[in-house]
Amino acid sequence: MEKEGLLINEALRLGAQYTSRGKTASYIGELSKKDPSHLGLALCTLDGQIAAAGYSEEKFTMQSISKVVTLIAALEQNGQEKIFSRVGMEPTGDAFNSMVRLDLLAGSRPFNPMINAGAIAVADCIQGGTVDERIELCLDFARRLTNNPGLCIDRAVLASEKATGYKNRAIVNLLESNGVVDGKPEEILELYFSMCSVSVDCRDLAFLAAVLAGGGRNPLTGEQLVKPQIVRLVRSLMTTCGMYDYSGQFASTVGIPSKSGVGGGIISAAAGKCGIAVYGPALDEHGNSVGGLKMLEYLSEKMDLNMF
Ligand code: GLU
Repeated sequence: MEKEGLLINEALRLGAQYTSRGKTASYIGELSKKDPSHLGLALCTLDGQIAAAGYSEEKFTMQSISKVVTLIAALEQNGQEKIFSRVGMEPTGDAFNSMVRLDLLAGSRPFNPMINAGAIAVADCIQGGTVDERIELCLDFARRLTNNPGLCIDRAVLASEKATGYKNRAIVNLLESNGVVDGKPEEILELYFSMCSVSVDCRDLAFLAAVLAGGGRNPLTGEQLVKPQIVRLVRSLMTTCGMYDYSGQFASTVGIPSKSGVGGGIISAAAGKCGIAVYGPALDEHGNSVGGLKMLEYLSEKMDLNMF
């Protein structure tokens, strides 16, 4: 791990030069309280060793990275056919919270599960008792994927999301009127917002990324946590749709299946190689961590992680 340790420290030094170019997300009030100069990262090997640097233990919320977790849980429960009858697999080129295409044609379904509309449709597919039980089920799944049994929801961020989630409320109502979802809109959103508000650090997310990089196995125990065909599918959606309307450019500059969140985190799963998580709450105009992007560009090049 000595080489990885040196590289991630160099990546951090480089990334730190860019944090002043971004801003924290402000549309969810709690997120704007983070210090935009903070930056951290962690790398997890396929045998579970972790190297970390910077603010790698600072807690932040998963936000859109949770779309990956909920999608995997929904696919494991329902199979691909049901999920992809409700949501497509195509990139949009639109903002993550756009709903314009949903209203173009009667009965339109979301383009993919990595945008808000798609993730909200996927949240409706989670089965298992009351809404609180369904949230607990997804949270438990996140705990297993991150190897952190202590993972919990940041209640202040959740309250903040709920207070300002007008756009997501509009989306769930449009999905309901298009016949894409059939649960109660408020319950679907409760699950969606709760998963966005799961509190993590870079080590948690590097482990999750390593599970995806290693075909669904727990890097420490070898336990198969996710079916390999689901992992492949999710990695492909991360590649085409995981970085908002920057996914195409990211594929050419970094070339690792990744998912970003407005909390400032990005997970990158380099298949057969390693999992990486970066964190920096200063975001660019697309909603991606500015320092995080620079660190990933550097590591991709130096560690030969670009799959193209
Ligand atoms: N909770 C955020 C929202 O729904 C997630 C956005 C993101 O990270 O892309 O707006």
